[in-house]
Amino acid sequence: MSKMYDVIVIGAGPAGLSAALYAGRARLKTLVVEKKKEGGQIALTSEVENYPGCVEGESGPTLIDRMYNQAKHFGAEFVYDEIESVDLQGSIKQLNGKKDVYKSKAVIVATGASSRPIGCPGEKEFIGKGVSYCATCDGSFFEDFDIYVVGGGDTAVEEAMYLTKFGRSVTIIHRRDELRAAKSIQDKAFKNPKIKFMWNTIVKELKGDGILNTMVVENVKTREQTTIVADEEDMTFGVFGFIGYIPKTDIFKDILTLDHGYIVTDENMKTNIDGVFAAGDVRVKSLRQVVTAASDGAIAAVQAEKYIESLK
Ligand code: NAP
Repeated sequence: MSKMYDVIVIGAGPAGLSAALYAGRARLKTLVVEKKKEGGQIALTSEVENYPGCVEGESGPTLIDRMYNQAKHFGAEFVYDEIESVDLQGSIKQLNGKKDVYKSKAVIVATGASSRPIGCPGEKEFIGKGVSYCATCDGSFFEDFDIYVVGGGDTAVEEAMYLTKFGRSVTIIHRRDELRAAKSIQDKAFKNPKIKFMWNTIVKELKGDGILNTMVVENVKTREQTTIVADEEDMTFGVFGFIGYIPKTDIFKDILTLDHGYIVTDENMKTNIDGVFAAGDVRVKSLRQVVTAASDGAIAAVQAEKYIESLK
C-alpha cells in the first residue's frame, strides 16, 4: 500500500526545495518527487550572482546542493520517479508515478520549465554532438573552438559570456537587432572582445556527418542565407540554444487552469483545486528567478500547512 503524506512536492528545483524546507520545518510529512536530479534549470547555470547571500563564485549546483541538504535536514523525504498522471480532486490526492503511486493531503507543483528547442531541422540529431542547452555541462567540450549562442535574453548573453572562457570566439545569433537582456548584462557583453553578434538572424538548419559541422543561417530582413562551415582542423563547432523555456505542465492539462501552458495561481500559490499549489517557473508570474522560486515555495508550503489544518 502506498504511504500517505501530508504534502507531496513535485520537482526539486529551488521552488520545490524551498517548499520542502518549509513543510519539513512545519513538521509536515513531506515527500519530494523528482524525475532525474535535483536542481532544475538552475543546476545548469554556471554562475549565480543575484541570489541574496550567495557566496562568491556560487554556481547553480553548489547552491542547489545546500538547498537539498537543508530540506533533508528538516525531514523531507526524496524519491526519484516520474509522475505520469494525477488525481487531484477530493481530499486525498493521488500521484501515479512510473515506479509507484503516491498519496497526500496537499500537493505543491514545482515542475519548472525545460529549454525551448531552436526548432530547426538537424537540431535533435546533433544534441550532444555539437548542439547543447547547457554551458556549464558542455562548454569545456568546445575549448578553442568557435561557439554560437542562439537567443538574446539574459540567459543567452550571460551564458555567452561564460562560454568565452572556452571558445576561441562566441557569436550571439539573435533574431532582432537589439538584445532583450538587462542593460547591465548587455554592457558586459559588448565590452567582451571575444563576443561577436549576428543580428536579425535565425538558424535555418544544422548539418553534419555524425558530428555537427555546418549551420545555415538566414537574415530575417533580407532573407539572405549564409552557410557556416566548421574550421577544417576543428571539424565541428558548438551551438548553444537559450531561447526561453517551456513549462512542464503536460500532466495538468484539463485539470489545472493554465495560461500559455503556465499554471495560474493566486498570490498564495493556490491553483483552481483546493489543496493544490504551484510554485516557481511553472506558474504565471512576472519574474522567473531563483529568489522568486524560493519565495513561491515558502508561501506554497505555509498555505499547504493551513489547508491541512482546515481539514481537521
Ligand atoms: P527570455 O527572456 O524569454 O529570452 C528568450 C530570447 O530568445 C529572446 O531574446 C527571444 O527573442 C529569443 N527567442 C525566443 N524564441 C525564439 C525563436 N523561436 N527563435 C529565435 N530566438 C528566439 O528567456 P531567458 O533569457 O532564458 O530568460 C528567462 C527568464 O529568466 C527571464 O525572466 C530572465 O530575466 C530570467 N533570467 C535572469 C537572469 C539574471 O537576472 N541574471 C539570468 C538568466 C535568466 P526576442 O528578444 O526577439 O523575443
